[in-house]
Amino acid sequence: MATTISLKNVEKRYGALDVIRGIDLDIKPGAFTVFVGPSGCGKSTLLRMIAGLESISDGDLMIDGGRMNDVAAARRGIAMVFQSYALYPHMSVYKNLAFGLETAGYKRDEINRRVQDAASTLQITDYLNRKPKALSGGQRQRVAIGRSIVRDPKIFLFDEPLSNLDAELRVQMRVEITKLHERLGNTMIYVTHDQVEAMTMADQIVVLRGGQVMQSGSPLELYNEPDNRFVAGFLGSPK
Ligand code: ADP
Ligand code: MG
Repeated sequence: MATTISLKNVEKRYGALDVIRGIDLDIKPGAFTVFVGPSGCGKSTLLRMIAGLESISDGDLMIDGGRMNDVAAARRGIAMVFQSYALYPHMSVYKNLAFGLETAGYKRDEINRRVQDAASTLQITDYLNRKPKALSGGQRQRVAIGRSIVRDPKIFLFDEPLSNLDAELRVQMRVEITKLHERLGNTMIYVTHDQVEAMTMADQIVVLRGGQVMQSGSPLELYNEPDNRFVAGFLGSPK
């Protein structure tokens, strides 16, 4: 069963600054959900709170019905893919994929099986012996995603993973990430400020502004029936 994530009146304050303001949200299990909104609206903060990389000031984060507020990041079953690939430059692709599993104490056979599976899913089998500097941007980003896949997480979180890539590659990687979701069927949340990415990739779009949810629904619902002018203007529908 795919994982359910639910936020109940979640808030984040940095001192006197209210960054996330009373968010109530159910993430569809097994769906590809996109958080979209202008720069500074709180997308990364919200994602980092779900991942456990940022504390929650108020409210509840529920995963599969259990309260996660005080559960350590490593125990939430979540993998996060960032915009900067942060691969280990001195290690081969194979080693980059295997490293986290080695430190977690997995056996060599199991590590090999998982690395080969991930490499095959991402079509990077031919590059396993290369160092990151001998890879293109798209190949590096696939390795970064591969490092998440080998951990077999329940949930994938992506924070603007394609914004460093050129336009052509970005379009190609969108398709690949969508395929990855179809293949794995995990609950995934993808953050972007790019409306086209949101409209083309999402099963569920959550439009954020000023730390609040403006609207949540399918791309078609938001396009055809925007709740307010902001959503209409942001997603480019005529209302
Ligand atoms: P987005 O990802 O949508 O661009 P962020 O979640 O990064 O937005 O930031 C939301 C707001 O929170 C911004 O105003 C940002 O300046 C502020 N913010 C983010 N992290 C911190 C922090 N560690 N301390 C203080 N303010 C922060
Ligand atoms: Mg951000």
